[in-house]
Amino acid sequence: MLKFTDFNLIDPIQKAIKEAGYETPTPIQERAIPLVLAGHDLLGIAQTGTGKTAAFCLPILNILHLRRVRQEPRCPRVLVLTPTRELAIQIHENLVCYGHFLPQKYAVIFGGVGQGRQVQSLRNGTDVLVATPGRLLDLIQQRHLRLDKTEIFVLDEADRMLDMGFMRDIKKILPLLPRQRHNLFFSATMPNEIQVLASKILVNPKKIEVTPPATTVKRTRQMVMFVDKKDKLNLLVHLLKNKNYHKSLVFVEMKHVANRVAEKLETNGIAATAIHGNKSQGARQRALQDFTQGRVKVMVATDIASRGIDIDGITHVINFELSNVAENYVHRIGRTARAGADGIAISLVTGEEKSYLANIERIIKQELEVIRDQPYHSESATRAKVIGVGKAKALIEGRRPFKKRHLSGR
Ligand code: AMP
Repeated sequence: MLKFTDFNLIDPIQKAIKEAGYETPTPIQERAIPLVLAGHDLLGIAQTGTGKTAAFCLPILNILHLRRVRQEPRCPRVLVLTPTRELAIQIHENLVCYGHFLPQKYAVIFGGVGQGRQVQSLRNGTDVLVATPGRLLDLIQQRHLRLDKTEIFVLDEADRMLDMGFMRDIKKILPLLPRQRHNLFFSATMPNEIQVLASKILVNPKKIEVTPPATTVKRTRQMVMFVDKKDKLNLLVHLLKNKNYHKSLVFVEMKHVANRVAEKLETNGIAATAIHGNKSQGARQRALQDFTQGRVKVMVATDIASRGIDIDGITHVINFELSNVAENYVHRIGRTARAGADGIAISLVTGEEKSYLANIERIIKQELEVIRDQPYHSESATRAKVIGVGKAKALIEGRRPFKKRHLSGR
């Protein structure tokens, strides 16, 4: 197994890693750190929780220190672009931690607060700037900073940027960077638009892909309920009325469905909230707090809006709609069964979603348990496996179906 000492990182960084209490690198760190140190552009397909922040911060700090270029005030040497204020703050905290024994300066800027202190930190000079796109453009327009001395550009959570409507801002930011630069690009999923963006930014990138640990998949009891589309909401209400569903995360594909589902739950006396990319930062924060602090027991979320949010004690993950990206299933159910607890994941599947289910079962290499004992069970939505009357009868009666004898001429 690789150790942090195998990377040839400078002593002040090694010391900070030890102080942070990290013993062994995570899989993404194992692969990304040597590539970034060697100067490669990187495409990292990974979500928060995999250790990706250290995977880019550690080699960046190493490179910056060894180059010994003096930064100029208002001209960061590294720009880390990230979609949300929470992520920006987290990355900045990590930089301060890993760079604790280095002379470099780190600043963070994001919207929704006064700009005075942020402008002051830029004036004092900053080697690494962590920013959300809107505030970055604002401060550039006001001439509080320039990007033409940027040596390394990191785009974090690209798919979430897309979901939150930051694509236009990113396209405005890119031409402000020098053409010659080192690029690191991270996204948990790679929809088409993100692939196009990555190919615009990256030059001969090395690609790394990491998935969440398989242990969560194994510890989660995973079930399917087959249901007709018209009954889905009723089935959800039926399930969530159960007292054992203390803290349930319900996944949907579309933002407007998130709102509709949360409203339906509310009208049925189930306290629920919704979180998705169309909501403002403040509204998302409030929804999240209501859920984590137990004021509501259900949170309805889209994949991307919920990512990077770490919530303890989720008892049930319900897939109200299956994603056509099978990997999202693994990310979703990874939200339950945390910290050694066992979790339950239920997928509500209609006839139209059967092919998604088949893809999921292929990547997790197991067939999900079908629960028929529910009031909205639809036999027509079940797996398209046609079995003979004899076998069906045997299964219902709990007998082993007899084998068909081959009456060939032998
Ligand atoms: P991230 O995916 O960057 O958000 O990191 C997830 C969490 O893992 C953070 O709390 C990090 O401090 C922590 N972490 C990152 N790398 C390691 C490591 N090698 N060993 C232990 N913890 C780590």
